[in-house]
Amino acid sequence: MRSLWNDAEAAQFSGPLGPRVYTSRLLGRDKSLVLHGGGNTSVKLRETNLFGAEDEVLYVKGSGWDLETIEAAGFSPVALDYVRRLAQLPALPDPQMVNELNTHMLRAGAPSPSVETILHAILPHAYVDHTHADAVLSVSNAPQGEQRVRDIYGDTVVVIPYIMAGFDLATYCAREFAARAGPGTIGMVLLSHGMFSFGADARESYERMIRLVGMAEGYLESRKAWRIALPEPRPPTAGREAVAALRRAISDRAGTPMLLKVNDSPKFLSFAQHAQLPRVSQRGPATPDHVIRTKPLPMLGFDVEAFARSYAAYFERHAAGAKEKKTMLDPAPRMVLDPTLGFAAVGRSAKDAGIVEDLYDHTIDVVLRAEALGGWQAVSEQDIFDIEYWDLEQAKLRKAGSPPAFTGEVALVTGAASGIGRACVEAFLKRGAAEAGLDRNPSIASMWKRPDVAGLACDLTDAAALDAALTEAVKRFGGIDMLVLNAGIFPSSQPIQEIGRDTWRSTMAINVEASLLVMQACHGLMKASPRGGRIVVVGSKNVPAPGPGAAAYSASKAALNQLARVAALEWGKDGIRVNSLHPNAVYDTALWTDEVLAARAKAYNLSVEQYKRNNLLRTEVASKDVAELAAELCGPLFAKTTGAQLPVDGGNERVV
Ligand SMILES: [Zn+2]
Repeated sequence: MRSLWNDAEAAQFSGPLGPRVYTSRLLGRDKSLVLHGGGNTSVKLRETNLFGAEDEVLYVKGSGWDLETIEAAGFSPVALDYVRRLAQLPALPDPQMVNELNTHMLRAGAPSPSVETILHAILPHAYVDHTHADAVLSVSNAPQGEQRVRDIYGDTVVVIPYIMAGFDLATYCAREFAARAGPGTIGMVLLSHGMFSFGADARESYERMIRLVGMAEGYLESRKAWRIALPEPRPPTAGREAVAALRRAISDRAGTPMLLKVNDSPKFLSFAQHAQLPRVSQRGPATPDHVIRTKPLPMLGFDVEAFARSYAAYFERHAAGAKEKKTMLDPAPRMVLDPTLGFAAVGRSAKDAGIVEDLYDHTIDVVLRAEALGGWQAVSEQDIFDIEYWDLEQAKLRKAGSPPAFTGEVALVTGAASGIGRACVEAFLKRGAAEAGLDRNPSIASMWKRPDVAGLACDLTDAAALDAALTEAVKRFGGIDMLVLNAGIFPSSQPIQEIGRDTWRSTMAINVEASLLVMQACHGLMKASPRGGRIVVVGSKNVPAPGPGAAAYSASKAALNQLARVAALEWGKDGIRVNSLHPNAVYDTALWTDEVLAARAKAYNLSVEQYKRNNLLRTEVASKDVAELAAELCGPLFAKTTGAQLPVDGGNERVV
């Protein structure tokens, strides 16, 4: 482990909090030190108040901020003196501690200070850094972990046994640190939890952290427990529909749709095929903190009911002895390990599933290294329960209000790179869905840089390409709930006698056959949808009211329309709703080049401007209007509707 300190970079961080922001980010950059909001840092500053007196202010990482991206505003200023007095109290319930911290901040609107704030306050040094370093966890969670930690560090650190974060840990550390720290002390190890370092300036504290964690890494290396080679895994065999069925079972148990993110990379797959998997995977998380997102244990295999029963039994074992009444969380797993699948992370959103995946990525390292030292062991089940059902942690995850309508659901949109398709991606995203956007335009791959959109380049008339795209979509999100069949072409205007066979065939291939292929390939996935599958077919006004010069297009959209109606008939029993939209005169799409627009206007003897608003409401219809309706068709408003055809055309007298 090397220091990432760079003088030129450090100089860019100005102001009293500049160095604190800089080294916090350096810690955040290394995922083996802190992950997703884990870890925290602080600095003690003197500030002159309005009356000219000096205040000691503890700036500590606020909750909701990540060290990697923290800014000065992410630090909560608390009255240091007051917090130090809190540490002298014989007892203080954690919710009350949080209240005291929140009411003793010096800036209205600052984020809530970390629950580890008192720990930062009791350490006498200006700068304090705290991480959950993988290497320290591997050593302290191996047999004789405490002795190993003492062997590595001698009197450079104070060693604290495992105690849940909160007031009790802080007061224990306050006593223990005062009694044990000597002139050579530069840190504090919290067994099965993490490492503290401190110093007079930001660089000293940061570099001590690097040094201390580096010592644990060196220890692991010297015992051949650092780089663990896993055997070459057998290839995964769980197919798309097996993943979708698993997602359905998990969602049913969770009581709400959940996303699954499959990781079958060699590392995860090989771990899932570990000869001692039940032993190495069923002891508990790398650090109890993870349990909030991961639950105590991964599910082995696909038996969700058995997992739920075992989770309920764990809850019963510990809830009875708890001080206050606990309400059981949903008993669905958040992690799945199976030799045919690899690993699946489960989350309400793509971001949540990604966090679970990252946490387990590091857990595998921590576990395998501790195994190499003689056997991985976690904190007790009681300790894990105490964190999972800690009021404060529960409060952190409870988001205000109800989540967007499509949270936990997956939409697949064809022709997603432009026009109505692109607007559909936005409309479904706004409603909380994760999305697979398919398009033959390769730029689709980088159009949305966010975890909840998979942009997949794919020629829909190529069955193998479609197969690969669907496999990728299911790996990313676990299934497909909603399908927007939007991809289509509009060949240039031609009278019937001039239509070439190639034009006719390619129009039919893209507008009809590709949609058939997508529907066929998605049927099994949609049948497994937690809330029932929904298909929206983007048709055309030309279905009820064809136009001269557009025979190939009109005929293809009419064929697509019949396909959708038959799908509504055949798939109703599978809980899949199929409805069509018939837009007209949507000009902000890729179909409408200036030439096509001019030709169509001419066919109706209108100017382009007249043609654009040539409807009963004299209004322009935009891609967004169509997309919003497509999303609503998949929502609860239309829950009892299938086989319907809705115009979205500003009113057309030939349709009315
Ligand atoms: Zn911690």
